Amino acid sequence: MAPSIVETQDLSSPSGVKFKVIVVGAGIAGLLTAIGLRLDGHDVTILEQAPAFGEVGAGIRIPPNSFKILHRWGIDLTYMKKTYSNGNRFLRYDTGKIIADMPHGVPELAFGGSYLKVHRADYLDVILKKAIEVGVDIRKNSRVDKYDWETPSALLGDGTRVDADLIVVADGVQSAARPIFQGHEMPPVDTGDIVYRVLIPAQEMLSDPDLRDLISQPWVSSWCGPDAHVIGYPIRGGETYNVVYCCSAHSVQDEELEEGETKRAFKNNAELVRRFAGWEPRVRKLVDLTNSTFLKWRLYDLDMVEHWVHPSNKGVLVGDAVHPMLPYMASGAAMACEDAATLRKLIRGATHKTLPAALAKYQKLRQPRASTVQKAGRALQATYHLPDGPAQQERDEWMVKDDARNPIFWGHKERRQWLFGHDAERF
Ligand SMILES: Cc1cc2nc3c(=O)[nH]c(=O)nc-3n(C[C@H](O)[C@H](O)[C@H](O)COP(=O)(O)OP(=O)(O)OC[C@H]3O[C@@H](n4cnc5c(N)ncnc54)[C@H](O)[C@@H]3O)c2cc1C
Repeated sequence: MAPSIVETQDLSSPSGVKFKVIVVGAGIAGLLTAIGLRLDGHDVTILEQAPAFGEVGAGIRIPPNSFKILHRWGIDLTYMKKTYSNGNRFLRYDTGKIIADMPHGVPELAFGGSYLKVHRADYLDVILKKAIEVGVDIRKNSRVDKYDWETPSALLGDGTRVDADLIVVADGVQSAARPIFQGHEMPPVDTGDIVYRVLIPAQEMLSDPDLRDLISQPWVSSWCGPDAHVIGYPIRGGETYNVVYCCSAHSVQDEELEEGETKRAFKNNAELVRRFAGWEPRVRKLVDLTNSTFLKWRLYDLDMVEHWVHPSNKGVLVGDAVHPMLPYMASGAAMACEDAATLRKLIRGATHKTLPAALAKYQKLRQPRASTVQKAGRALQATYHLPDGPAQQERDEWMVKDDARNPIFWGHKERRQWLFGHDAERF
């Protein structure tokens, strides 16, 4: 049962002040922030550098903390193909033996929203349609090259200047704006991990008795092994299986991504066959079924970004631009959704005079929470990739206990409640 309050679309500004807002970047963070602000009647323009919209061919989890915001804002996921999540299942890499099951229970009752597993393109499509429906002005082919923080204005490559009252920058993990806000260089840190993101048609798995249950029992399965883990879950109502092979880069005996190269498309699974040769039969079968184009992707993160608000008080960062994280908490986009919700609520009551205070409060509310999730992603990296031995045995023993010492974030009820029960619009 989803929360019953859904907003009607009033589109008038509650404080009476209608801000002109530029959003840089039309990823999940930019689009959701644009929708939120537009729902309150602000004039919102998105500037996106890409000539067309598209998402990576991969799955994404929408946890209850973001689902409840989407639902409340009338972003209707009803007709999107989706799979509801059972919870997390952890398995040994070599035998497939279950180490621990961590069911979510009934997320709608426990946390106030559903827990969905979907295809990224489907998710982006729904958000994009909503942005268009509420009247966000979306401009493709509009790369922002420079900012003038006096006005403030965004300056495009072709010389166009777009003026606003506020610039929300959602330009992603390699953000060009982040260093400007800090006053010094701040590239994201190479985490040392790479991932291969793969989609497998479920039909090929349903015909194999070993693989069938991975589709019919919608766990997020994580096989944990030395220097690598493999995450798999069904999406699109069980039509497709999403697999992410996550490895310490040094453990992959193949051609490295070039310096500065963040992702590369592959067709041949030879690299995966070699890397996962010693893993249990189901993992090897998933590797064998990896026969269409997939991506090899370098992972970056940061611990905590100090300045979320530009010193002029006319710019603010959201999404991966301000809290890039390892994907192991499955929460990067959910944090972006929370950013949008908190920012929207704070700007709702603001005037030109009180806008700086609203932005400062946005940072104060969001920074510690996002930083906790960033650090938790790093902790999981170490936990998942332990070599066999005493530390791994201790990990496995704690993983079945609902205790603060359980090394898996969701393994402790209080932490689950903190993460999924959060409502970014209630403060
Ligand atoms: C393997 C993997 C699995 C993940 N799984 C999950 C999950 O299950 N759940 C979850 O919540 N999160 C997950 N995440 C994280 C999530 O994908 C990201 O946090 C989220 O997509 C970030 O969105 P964003 O809008 O901040 O950035 P982006 O999607 O990178 O968007 C940035 C946009 O800005 C545009 N842009 C950049 N510079 C400019 C410029 N100068 N001018 C104009 N436009 C510009 C870009 O073209 C792009 O469209 C995962 C990540 C990975 C890598």
